[in-house]
Amino acid sequence: MAATFLLIEWRSLRERFLLSFALGFLCIVVGCTLAPLRQSGDFLLGVWLSNSMVPLAHFMFLHGAASFAQRRLSRVWFLAPLACSALMAAPGLGDRDQVMSLFNAGFVAVFCLRAAGVLLEARRTTGSETRTLVATFVVHGSFYAVKAGCAFVPGAFVDLSSYSGVLIPISLFEGILVEVALAMSVAGALRRRREERATRLAESDPLTGLLNRRGFEARTRDVQQSGGSLLLIDIDNFKTINDCFGHQGGDRLLVDLAAFLRLRLPGSAISARLGGDEFVVLLPGMDEGRSLGLAEDLCSGFAMRQGGGNCGTLSIGCAPVTPGIQDLSPAMLQADRGLYDAKSKGRNRASSAPRLSATGTQAEILPYPIAAAG
Ligand code: GH3
Ligand code: MG
Repeated sequence: MAATFLLIEWRSLRERFLLSFALGFLCIVVGCTLAPLRQSGDFLLGVWLSNSMVPLAHFMFLHGAASFAQRRLSRVWFLAPLACSALMAAPGLGDRDQVMSLFNAGFVAVFCLRAAGVLLEARRTTGSETRTLVATFVVHGSFYAVKAGCAFVPGAFVDLSSYSGVLIPISLFEGILVEVALAMSVAGALRRRREERATRLAESDPLTGLLNRRGFEARTRDVQQSGGSLLLIDIDNFKTINDCFGHQGGDRLLVDLAAFLRLRLPGSAISARLGGDEFVVLLPGMDEGRSLGLAEDLCSGFAMRQGGGNCGTLSIGCAPVTPGIQDLSPAMLQADRGLYDAKSKGRNRASSAPRLSATGTQAEILPYPIAAAG
């Protein structure tokens, strides 16, 4: 069922890791189908091949986990299922059942714990998507590690041919639980990844890759509590750039400004394109004086990057963000006044306008309306 479910998902979504997990579950189905042959004494199919399917299935799960985490597995891992099958059939290593139990359970434990490790190593990119999957791999891997340790305990897991031993029914029960848990956590991880991708798409500006207004509001909701400064950036005479170099030339300048901001802003800054040629930056914890200095550096740096002229330079309005505020609208309004001041003083400069009076309204002060956040 798990294999069919994941195969159907893979057919529509084409995510490679779904195929790996589906093939893993198929290996388990093949292993279980062959297992009854051991009663008729068929060692090759009923015991060796049937048991080889279990580590192979877990290697496929490891492969699926690595592919989900966008990590490459080293080539050695691809040889591991073959090595496991060969060792399980190797003559002269001691009691056949014990040796088979040791390698079977040992390889499964290693594959599972490595899968959990790969997902944990990639948690910066996978985020919280894989928490349940990691837990399932850790529990399953630990169970198999104990099982490998019990390979030489008399009566624990020794008679594979007659399928008896204390650990066998426990193992079958654990196997069913894990199969369901794995299938559900793979589906859950995929759902969370798709939701996060959709949110990222909805919150980013497709041209520059920066956040858009919605993303900026979402990302700054908590940060604004600690205060800082806000910069409102507008490209000077951008219409002329569009007229001279075409819309594509204008787009290239927007992309270049985004790259410039990524390069020059501190790591804690949150920047977004609000629309057209208008950008906004929240500088958490930075006082107004320092942010004005930074804004002036941005103006001169971008003017140099453009190679002179009065088109494509930047005008920037700065405003303080009071700690503990719930809404950036007042700071946006004040930064917009600063921007208007910079434009009216000749452009290619930064300015911070005086604070709004308690009774002052946007219409009284600004010559044009702004769409403030909120
Ligand atoms: P000012 O110095 O006063 O800011 O003058 P400006 O010419 O830059 O005026 P404004 O900021 O109002 O111009 C915005 C222009 O940006 C108007 C619109 O045609 C253009 N624009 C809006 N979105 C895009 C876009 O995605 N790509 C390009 N190339 N142009 C855009
Ligand atoms: Mg402009």
